Amino acid sequence: MTIVLGRLFGTDGVRGVIGEKLTPELALRLGRAIGAYFGKGSRILIGRDIRAGGEMIKDAVVSGLLAEGVKVYDAGFIPTPGLQYNVKIGPYDGGVMITASHNPPQYNGIKVIAGDGIEVPHEEEETIEEYYFKGTASRLPWRSYVHDLEIASQAVETYVDAVVSQVDAELIAKRQFKVVLDCANSVGSIATPLVLSRLGVRYVSLNCNLDPLFPGREPEPTPETLAPAISLLRELGADLIVGHDGDADRAIVGDDKGRILWGDRDGTLLAAFVGETRKDLPRRVYTGVSSSIIVEEYLRPRGIDVVWTPVGSVTISRMILRDGGAIAGFEENGGYMHVPHQIVRDGAMKTALLLHMLAYTGKSMSELVDTLPTYYTLKKKIPATKAEAACAVELVEKIFSNERLVTIDGVKVIGSDYWILVRPSGTEPVLRIMAEAKSREKLERIVRTVEDEIRKRCLGR
Ligand code: MG
Repeated sequence: MTIVLGRLFGTDGVRGVIGEKLTPELALRLGRAIGAYFGKGSRILIGRDIRAGGEMIKDAVVSGLLAEGVKVYDAGFIPTPGLQYNVKIGPYDGGVMITASHNPPQYNGIKVIAGDGIEVPHEEEETIEEYYFKGTASRLPWRSYVHDLEIASQAVETYVDAVVSQVDAELIAKRQFKVVLDCANSVGSIATPLVLSRLGVRYVSLNCNLDPLFPGREPEPTPETLAPAISLLRELGADLIVGHDGDADRAIVGDDKGRILWGDRDGTLLAAFVGETRKDLPRRVYTGVSSSIIVEEYLRPRGIDVVWTPVGSVTISRMILRDGGAIAGFEENGGYMHVPHQIVRDGAMKTALLLHMLAYTGKSMSELVDTLPTYYTLKKKIPATKAEAACAVELVEKIFSNERLVTIDGVKVIGSDYWILVRPSGTEPVLRIMAEAKSREKLERIVRTVEDEIRKRCLGR
């Protein structure tokens, strides 16, 4: 029998509609595979977000792990970065998080965390898949099964302490900030309110009750889903909006004027702040090619290098670890890694750091945002097969061969007053086009030219 690998894990763990693709049978088998991968006697911390079927999937994974002789510790409801932090510093060999992050409510998923707290690399996921498809047939003596599940009751507290310890709580408390916090009805509600209280911040919470139906909004924080938070901020004259995704590893932020920012904007400001206050860190940041060149324009003059990476947070984490550290890693989708804390996206950590930045600079969020260069943005999706998308990337490389190109994930052209990224999507048959320019005319002209050429030469339409 030929085993086709790569069927199970997507770009961010195993995801599927609960009860359809994601069944307890799959979870049990995957639990055994994960157990076989970590090995008998290893210690695994497991946690979940609020999603439907979370307990069913978690219990099935736990059964599979126990069947392989693994010792399992249950952190219960916890944000993904909370689980990751505990795996990193605690007596664990790895972790499992039951979550589908920002996906719509009907989805759930299983994510495997390595002993260093970072998601296992994709090559390792293939090893786990191999166990999954081959099946594990561990027959252990009965004495191997005397261990029960243990409750890791301190996990959330340990995580909250760690986040608070990274910032100057006294300085933040003096400013008496007012924050609108939208927890997406999920595990952001477990940790971020505690962090804000410890920092002396007055917060008004929206959707911070746990509810698997996600009655408040979709789990993905966007300018649209955060509209009620914007109204509330204006009504209250608050300083900041923080909107988490379903597992609170991300935070999308809005300033005191109610402008929702993409993560490359506030990520740039945070990196500049951390760069200024933490001279001990290597002077570089890592960000996906889908981030704006604002990152370079703002950070280079401050003596901070920018390393462009393929899109995907696990890649960023692993690159930072490989290269021996950084000031930060961040993404346009609101993921921010504060490296001295942990090299994974962390929504509560990002929130605390933003407040520290505001307190330290004495500025409002909108004043800081206005120090960033202004660019007009355009994002497009064009249906395209793999071959058509590859043709488009090659074509754009040829057209702009005299410009600065970044070709690690699709092609990014960096001109003096614009940039454009043409990239095949990792998850659907589309070509993504993202562009920014200093004038609206330039932006429209450049996107039209590129799109016309792609349609003519690669799509035949
Ligand atoms: Mg997430």
